[in-house]
Amino acid sequence: MAEQGFVESFTMEEEKLQQEFYESHHGKEILKCIQCGTCSGSCPLTDQMDHAPRELFSLIRDGFMADALCSNTPWFCVSCYQCMVRCPREIPVTDLMYALKQMAVSHDVAQPSNKMPDLYDAFSREVKRAGKMNETGLMARYGLKHPLDMPAKTGLALRLYRRGRLAIKSDKTRNPDQIRRMMETQPEGMEK
Ligand code: SF4
Ligand code: SF4
Repeated sequence: MAEQGFVESFTMEEEKLQQEFYESHHGKEILKCIQCGTCSGSCPLTDQMDHAPRELFSLIRDGFMADALCSNTPWFCVSCYQCMVRCPREIPVTDLMYALKQMAVSHDVAQPSNKMPDLYDAFSREVKRAGKMNETGLMARYGLKHPLDMPAKTGLALRLYRRGRLAIKSDKTRNPDQIRRMMETQPEGMEK
């Protein structure tokens, strides 16, 4: 659930943030939303989200940008695209979730209890370093920020290791720099 105190401490101008969202890639598409709720009904992760997708879009359109940017919803989105293929207005819901994540990171407004941004960050750094994802590298990076979470994950890691599903030694692709450059390049058409 949203941490009310954190949302209330938000000091940025919500009108400006709403404008920034509209100017992001596909941002204005949200204005076509008819609030039918098909996206929320299709989403497999709504029980984890503090606002279902339809509700999140309503917050943005009503200018409640603090609630929208501090929401855990985009971080729980697993990009399954169920909402997008079913939306009667063909709104790119998944892409809008990415836009919200980018805005939350660029304004550094993720809620302290939301650990997903740190997991995303660890994933991205590991792929930039090795050109691929190594589970041990990922968890080591994440564990540096959340050491108290690690004991609970050790049992699972050991079970995976015994079954040969977890490599201790991290390896790299032949040219990880190519992957890093690709990740750091803004794709054509993604500019505001
Ligand atoms: S399915 Fe599309 S139109 Fe319906 S609420 Fe979701 S985004 Fe809006
Ligand atoms: S793409 Fe994200 S928001 Fe859409 S249904 Fe899947 S998990 Fe839910």
